[in-house]
Amino acid sequence: MTGPRRVTIAPQSGQAIRVKRGDMIRIIDPKGQQVADLWAFALDRPKLEWLSTSQTRNATERLFPLVGESFYSMKAEPMLTLIEDASPGPHDMLYPACDQALYDHVGLPNHPNCQDNLITALARENISIDFVPDPVDLFQNSLPQPNGRIDVLPSINPPGAYVRLKAERDILLVITACAVDFHPTNGGRCTEIEVEVVPE
Ligand SMILES: [Zn+2]
Repeated sequence: MTGPRRVTIAPQSGQAIRVKRGDMIRIIDPKGQQVADLWAFALDRPKLEWLSTSQTRNATERLFPLVGESFYSMKAEPMLTLIEDASPGPHDMLYPACDQALYDHVGLPNHPNCQDNLITALARENISIDFVPDPVDLFQNSLPQPNGRIDVLPSINPPGAYVRLKAERDILLVITACAVDFHPTNGGRCTEIEVEVVPE
């Protein structure tokens, strides 16, 4: 029997975390207003099956699962179930992860970004991917507006807010503390994300 594991994801960085089926994962925003991008890859075939935001929207017919509902792979298999949402939300499943092109566009070359942080985290696990799936953007405040806009507004997440997920299979998670510091996304400053994994 192993105890809970705690991982701190430093500001503007990312980490891969292996979890087993039945593990409970708590993703915590200690300082508040910090978006966490979440990816999940099937541990037995990470290059072939991963959490798909579009399949999750399809399966749940929602912009984001309700507590008790799951996130699905593109094979429509449950990957993670949302057990608890101790945050005001909202969360986003429409946006891609930030990448260097986004920062280039606003004159910030060589800027940390979630896509590169994902690729680096996977490389440490000896995994390379041919493309970057869209992440689940926890605590990101970009709900669609009635006029069709999906403006990214400052996160309203308070310090210590979290979501709790259950792994439905053995998964390689990658979580990034989003690197956006030029836009109000993360409240104007980038802070760390804490992850706690409690075995079944
Ligand atoms: Zn980001």
